[in-house]
Amino acid sequence: MTKKLFFKNVYLKEFTANIISKEEIEGEFHIVLDQTAFYPEGGGQPCDTGTIDSLKVCYVYEKDNKIYHIVDKKPTKLNNVKCTIDWEKRFDHMQQHLGQHILSACFEELFDAETVGFHLGTAFVTIDVTLSDLSNDQAQKVEYLANQVVFNNLRVNQLYPNPSKLSELPLRKPPKVDKNIRIIEIDQFDFSPCGGTHPSYTGEVGLIKIRKWEKIRNNIRIEFVCGNRALKDFTWKNDYIYKIANLLSIKDLDVLNGIEKIYSNYHSQQKEIKKLKEQLLNYEAFALYQEADIHKEIKIIYKIYDNRDFNELRTLATKIISKPNAIVLFGARNKKAQMILSSSKQIEINMNEIFKKVCIIFNGKGGGNNHNAQGGGDNLSKLEDALKEAKNIIINQYI
Ligand SMILES: [Zn+2]
Repeated sequence: MTKKLFFKNVYLKEFTANIISKEEIEGEFHIVLDQTAFYPEGGGQPCDTGTIDSLKVCYVYEKDNKIYHIVDKKPTKLNNVKCTIDWEKRFDHMQQHLGQHILSACFEELFDAETVGFHLGTAFVTIDVTLSDLSNDQAQKVEYLANQVVFNNLRVNQLYPNPSKLSELPLRKPPKVDKNIRIIEIDQFDFSPCGGTHPSYTGEVGLIKIRKWEKIRNNIRIEFVCGNRALKDFTWKNDYIYKIANLLSIKDLDVLNGIEKIYSNYHSQQKEIKKLKEQLLNYEAFALYQEADIHKEIKIIYKIYDNRDFNELRTLATKIISKPNAIVLFGARNKKAQMILSSSKQIEINMNEIFKKVCIIFNGKGGGNNHNAQGGGDNLSKLEDALKEAKNIIINQYI
């Protein structure tokens, strides 16, 4: 059984120990020490990392009361090895972990909501609470209470009660183990069975900040950050607000109003642009119709465009053929060669048939009906020949 130094002194960063076993598994070494301050992954808390002598500890786990430290190289020295824990990481885990106890206790205290899930990730922490909904106001209330627990700097005790004492404690949740039950008490406020590492006073958790929440199945998942993570989160958000305020030349408190104004202006401008584009196309359709070549009273509008939106051309063609006696032959050299052949309803013609005849010239595909056919192909250099051929067929065979 490995002696767990982190339960005796949670602030222990360096210690010496003896390696009592080392097993090679797939090129890595699983080391057991006689005593350790490395916390093994468990109870929702990630494991510690650090060094054993000069060997890097990348993962720590517990199995059959032994704690295994995975290192990448074979240890040479076995006795009195110097071990160091990556303290920044561990302290972060302690802040987030106790923050979770506090927040969960506050959800229970205020809304009778149980915590049924906990995840301590590398960036954020989440808990799942048994609520069907959470309002902004409720979230602020729970956050406020949680931070008062922090500011009151309550003592955090670890208790190992005997069964009769245990039954008297107002536990927030039942223990998962039946032996050596360890209770984390936040000074009369919360009693929770837990095997993780926690600071000795709530003040060390620092700010507890709820970032957001969402409905997951029948519960609400709360994402939050504590301590240094909260500081980091505040830092970038402050930076962003400052930069946005500068960009808009307004005060930071007015940022939301400013953005809402811009957004609403943007929408009305988009509407205006759409209206103007429509007007412009109407003028263009009118001009093309007026200037078209006339063959036996039929106006033939023949034109090839470079880099012009095909949907826009389609709209333009539709506007032209809504007028009487018009035939539209449009080509577009975009990423591929595109063609539209359209005619007014009164003209007896089969545009689909004509399109099928000429599309092979530019390696095109497509089709349509008597008054409308369109499609695209990959031979851009032959588009003009194909469109000319369509015009010849129409003049020689249909008009
Ligand atoms: Zn805990």
